[in-house]
Amino acid sequence: QRSSPGEPEFYQAVEEVVQSLEPLFAKEKKYLEYNILERIVEPERAITFRVTWIDDQGRLQVNKGYRIQFSSTLGPYKGGLRFHPSVTSGTIKFLGFEQIFKNALTGLAIGGAKGGSDFDPKGKSNNEIMRFCQSFMTELYRHIGDTIDVPAGDIGVGGREIGYLYGQYKRLTGSYEGVLTGKKIAWGGSLARTEATGYGAVYFAENLLASRNDTLEDKVATVSGSGNVAIYTIKKLYELGAKPVTCSDSRGTIYHEAGIHLHTLQQLKEQGKNESLEKYAEIHPDAKYTPASQYPEGRHPVWSIPCQLAFPCATQNELNLEDAKALLNNGCILVAEGANMPSTPEAVHAFLEAKILYGPGKAANAGGVATSQLEMAQNASMIQWSFEEVDARLKGIMQNIYLTASQTAEEFGQPHNLVLGANIAGFRKVADAMIDQGAV
Ligand code: NDP
Repeated sequence: QRSSPGEPEFYQAVEEVVQSLEPLFAKEKKYLEYNILERIVEPERAITFRVTWIDDQGRLQVNKGYRIQFSSTLGPYKGGLRFHPSVTSGTIKFLGFEQIFKNALTGLAIGGAKGGSDFDPKGKSNNEIMRFCQSFMTELYRHIGDTIDVPAGDIGVGGREIGYLYGQYKRLTGSYEGVLTGKKIAWGGSLARTEATGYGAVYFAENLLASRNDTLEDKVATVSGSGNVAIYTIKKLYELGAKPVTCSDSRGTIYHEAGIHLHTLQQLKEQGKNESLEKYAEIHPDAKYTPASQYPEGRHPVWSIPCQLAFPCATQNELNLEDAKALLNNGCILVAEGANMPSTPEAVHAFLEAKILYGPGKAANAGGVATSQLEMAQNASMIQWSFEEVDARLKGIMQNIYLTASQTAEEFGQPHNLVLGANIAGFRKVADAMIDQGAV
C-alpha cells in the first residue's frame, strides 16, 4: 500500500469502503484482476495552490487552496469547495474519495472531486470574502469547466461565495457557462438546490422508516450543525410532522424542547451571517445554550438529548462511540447523516450492531450533489425547471438511492447494512466503467 502520511481521515474513509467490499471481492474476481482498488484510491489529479489576498487593513494574507480531481470515470469531476480553518489536504482527499461513490449512487453522470481552503470566513467582511474568492478562482479557473470539473458549495461556501467565484471565472474566461453549481436563481441557479441536501436527508429517513411501516409523524429529532444542511433538514422535518429540538455550531449547542424556531435560526445564520447561537437563547429564554467550553470531555451534547431520530449535519467525526451509546440508550431508532462521515467507525459499528435504521452520509446526503447535477442539466439546456419539478426529481432520486443500497445489502446477505449496500453499489458502478475504459 502506498502511504499518504498525515491524512488520517482519508485512511478512515478508505478503510470503511475496503471493509465493505470484501464480500464483493470474494464473489467477483475481476475487480482484483483489473487492480481497481489500487487505482481508485489514487486521485487522477491533485492540485494545491497559494491563495494571496489583501485584508481590510491592507495586509497581505496567505492561505492554502486545494482541488482534488479524484475520478472522471462516470462524468465531469463534481464535488464541493470547503472553506474552514480545519481544512487540510487529508480532509479534501477523504471528501473527494467519498464523493466518487456518492455520485455513482445518484445514478447521474458525474465523477468525484473536492476542493477548498483553510481560509476562515468567520469574522471576515464581505469585501475580504470577495477578494479571497477572486484570488482562489484566479488559480482554479485553469482546471475547471462545464464538461471538465464543476465545483459546488460545502462548509463555509454558500450562495454569496459561489457568486464571487462565478463572477471571477466569467471575468477571466469571458464565458457564461455552468461551471459552478449552487448559483443564485437569477443567474443560472436551480430552484430547490439550496434546500436539496437537508430535504434529501429527510426523504431518505422517510424511506428508512417506511421499510418498518413507520413515519416521521410526531417523532422527536436531534440535529447538529446550523448551516445549510441543518437548516433545511429542520425545515423538512417540521413539514413532515416531526419535531427537531437541537442545533449547534463550532461554538455551542442549543436544546429547545418546544422545537427549534426555524425563523430565528435562519435570521442568525443565513445570507452570509454566522451569529453565535448564544443569541438564539437570548431570543428564546426557554432554550438551553451550552458553550463548547462546557461540553463533557470528548462528547457532543446534541447526542445526549433524548430523541427517536438523529441527523448529524455539521462535520466529520462529530459523533463518537459514547455519543452513539447515549443515543441508543435513549431509544433512538434512526440515524440519517446529512454531513459527510459524521460518525466515527466505532459509532457506525454500534448502530449496525443495534440494527437501528442507519443511513450513511454517502447515501443520505447525496440529494445535494444530485440536485447540482440537475442544475447542470438546466444550464446545458438553458431552461429552468419549477421548484416542484426539481423537488419531485430529488424525492425520486433519494428513493432510488435507498432502494439501490438496500437491495445491494440484501444481495450480500446483510439486509440492514446500508454502509455495505451503498459502498458496494457505488463501487461496482465505477469499477465496471473503469474496466470498460481500459488502463487509465
Ligand atoms: P455550512 O457551512 O452551511 O454549515 C456547517 C455547520 O457545521 C455550521 O453550523 C458549522 O459551525 C458547523 N461546523 C463545521 N465545522 C465544524 C467543526 N469542526 N466543529 C463543530 N461544528 C462545525 O455547511 P453545510 O451545511 O453545507 O455542510 C455541513 C455538512 O454537510 C458537511 O459535512 C458537508 O460536507 C456536508 N454536505 C453538504 C452538502 C451541501 O449541499 N451543502 C452536500 C452534502 C454534504 P461554524 O460555522 O461555527 O463552524
